[in-house]
Amino acid sequence: MSESGNRIIIVGHGMAGARLAAELPARTGDAKITVLGAEQHRAYNRIMLSNLLAGKVDEAGVELTEAAGHGIDVQPGVQVTAVDPAARTVTTSRGDLLGYDHLVLATGGRALVPPLPGLDPDRLPDRVAVFRTLDDCRRILSVATGARRALVLGGGLLGLEAARGLATRGLEVHVVHPVGHLMERQLDPAAGAVLARTLAGLGVTAHLEVAASAVDARADGVTLTLSDGRELAADLLVLSCGVRPDVGLARSAGLTVDRGVVVDDRLRTSDPHISAIGDCAQHAGVVTGLVAPAWEQARVLAQVLTGQDTRARYRPRPSVTRLKAAGIDLAAMGDPGFGLDPDVEELSFSDPVRGTYARLRIVGERLTGAIMLGDNPAVGTVIQLFDRGAPVPIDRRTLLLGRSRDVASAPPVESPALMPDSATVCQCNTVRKGALVRCWRAGARSMDELVAGTRATTGCGSCRDAVEGILGWLSAIDTPETAEEVAA
Ligand SMILES: Cc1cc2nc3c(=O)[nH]c(=O)nc-3n(C[C@H](O)[C@H](O)[C@H](O)COP(=O)(O)OP(=O)(O)OC[C@H]3O[C@@H](n4cnc5c(N)ncnc54)[C@H](O)[C@@H]3O)c2cc1C
Repeated sequence: MSESGNRIIIVGHGMAGARLAAELPARTGDAKITVLGAEQHRAYNRIMLSNLLAGKVDEAGVELTEAAGHGIDVQPGVQVTAVDPAARTVTTSRGDLLGYDHLVLATGGRALVPPLPGLDPDRLPDRVAVFRTLDDCRRILSVATGARRALVLGGGLLGLEAARGLATRGLEVHVVHPVGHLMERQLDPAAGAVLARTLAGLGVTAHLEVAASAVDARADGVTLTLSDGRELAADLLVLSCGVRPDVGLARSAGLTVDRGVVVDDRLRTSDPHISAIGDCAQHAGVVTGLVAPAWEQARVLAQVLTGQDTRARYRPRPSVTRLKAAGIDLAAMGDPGFGLDPDVEELSFSDPVRGTYARLRIVGERLTGAIMLGDNPAVGTVIQLFDRGAPVPIDRRTLLLGRSRDVASAPPVESPALMPDSATVCQCNTVRKGALVRCWRAGARSMDELVAGTRATTGCGSCRDAVEGILGWLSAIDTPETAEEVAA
């Protein structure tokens, strides 16, 4: 260990902390690494909680497949209660005082409980739950069993994933959202309207532009009073009103905190012996709340801490948001752009009856934003062009409609053979096609081997079909040499 000294403590065994714990031993010699995690469970894939709620996977299916490295001391169920930067010690909920040479805060975020009459954030009633942890998910599922009707407060991404998951289990679901359209951070009003219509067909009713004003939770049910005077009764209420970075420890330790713990390009906080990564960190004014940046930050920090690459710097990449809900295919990226801008070329296609909507924003032949909802054949191409900042085809219909009269400007990158090596296949782990091809050349011949060698598919899993497609293409080519030629 060059930069950090020998003793590293990681606070938080969530997705960022677990990834760092897996990265460090691969790069360190004699360091003593301790991970203290407040949750009782083994590290799990938080993203997959939506699938657990929907019954698509069981609890074993949400465990993070990547174990902490050999020799790492992982202590679940241990909360860090205080940090003393001057003495370089942390105090734990067990009463231990542990010294560190370098401390990493990976404390994530907390679900917000809105300040409503009838809700005590420290003690939610039995039939009211937030949706952030495995325990939250267990709680929702235990109330949902035997329930008929559920309410979800908040029509953002997580609220809709929870709503769709509960509807999949046969519940009638109502989503209450204070804004005029769903997922307003990612979607424009037209896309929000198409999404609301699609959801209605799947058993989820959206109540828009109306706030909640009170909660009355009893042993036999819960009633949500709305600002327009209506009362909605149900068996269960899920609160999905946003996530706040968990900055309590950092603040009381005197670190610079804005919305998140402020870090520089090396993920260092205002104290050079303390770093922060993941949902608790704020880099260049941005708190991301997504796994791809959390895992990239873990990778960069591992390089910096071990001295393997002291020049490694975290550089944010544009992110793509995908809704993980059965029957809804939605990808949104970049600037949704609500106003008309003369410098922006706008293209859109809408077929609300069939639940399809596509919108592209193009500046100087590059995509700056896109919304693809429903059956959009070119969604993979759009994501790749956006991700690489590559020029769009001359015939824009190839992206909007997935077809063209002009063969010369057909979608360039849907087939694995035509996809450039630099195309990002797994957004969560930033795995490019070239890395998959190299892994195959190195001997990986099955999905399991490709996944183990590259980590592709281990985040949200939405790239599984694409990775299988690449494996199929590579397998169809007889020799590694031929594959090399094709991929070059
Ligand atoms: C249902 C759901 C679906 C999601 N879907 C997506 C998605 O599709 N795509 C995407 O990119 N992101 C998604 N996210 C967000 C993603 O899960 C987070 O970005 C990611 O988990 C961030 O990792 P983290 O380690 O920073 O935080 P977390 O995973 O929240 O982990 C933080 C950990 O630190 C622990 N901790 C906090 N304080 C202390 C302390 N003082 N002492 C010890 N331990 C402590 C916490 O208990 C927790 O276990 C989703 C989130 C949820 C809840």
